[in-house]
Amino acid sequence: MAALLAAVVPLMSCVGSRDGGDSHDRWAAGRQRMVDTQLRARDIHDPRVLAAMGQVPRHLFVPPASQDEAYEDYPLPIGDHQTISQPYIVALMTQLLEPQPTDVVLEIGTGSGYQAAVLATLVRDVYTIELSDMLAASAAERLKALAYANVHVRSGDGFLGWPDVAPFDGIIVTAAAPRVPDPLAAQLREGGRIVIPLVQDDGQELVRGVKRDGRITYEHIADVLFVPMRGLILRPTT
Ligand code: SAH
Repeated sequence: MAALLAAVVPLMSCVGSRDGGDSHDRWAAGRQRMVDTQLRARDIHDPRVLAAMGQVPRHLFVPPASQDEAYEDYPLPIGDHQTISQPYIVALMTQLLEPQPTDVVLEIGTGSGYQAAVLATLVRDVYTIELSDMLAASAAERLKALAYANVHVRSGDGFLGWPDVAPFDGIIVTAAAPRVPDPLAAQLREGGRIVIPLVQDDGQELVRGVKRDGRITYEHIADVLFVPMRGLILRPTT
């Protein structure tokens, strides 16, 4: 609980502002360097995605003790044994979703809310589900304080998706699942994209699927390492 409060309290001073209350944003230089060296220099080329990554204050989504490392090229702990992905992975998954301004996107695994905030600058609405009540509550508070009004956070098991809002133009899963949950496949709109890390025998792979004529076709993107998707529904049945 102390860690949760520590993560949330600094945001109270910056309601209505996304630069941490610092008029000249001392974090902007590090953020721009991150965009240039970790994203543009690799294969992130969608100008809207690059702009979003250059805007969202990632240092406000990590615990205060990790703030100085917020724009480094690696994942960071966010409490409750979970991690915020490396900036490149967030950008890559966002680019693979091909986000359009009119899109409605579902995210499974809210975590800190950072990926949701990046998406929120690119699409109409983001619906995001987090299994941990503690993380869901702190992410919702953080996103509200930073005025990301088009992000809707719910705590629960993302395996089931968000049927009331479906279908979605894009679905992004930020925890590794043993398979694509059937409800998520069903909640993807025709022409929609799903980006999800899958557990394999010897590691994990990030895949992207596109739904055409009611059927999703998947392609391998990269070998990755995500925290595992948890929840009652994923427990093996024997
Ligand atoms: N996207 C996050 C990082 C996610 S880490 C960010 O930008 O910070 C993966 C998250 O998935 C963890 O917070 C974990 O609690 C959550 N998670 C794991 N299994 C889940 C499930 N079945 N439903 C919803 N969330 C889940």
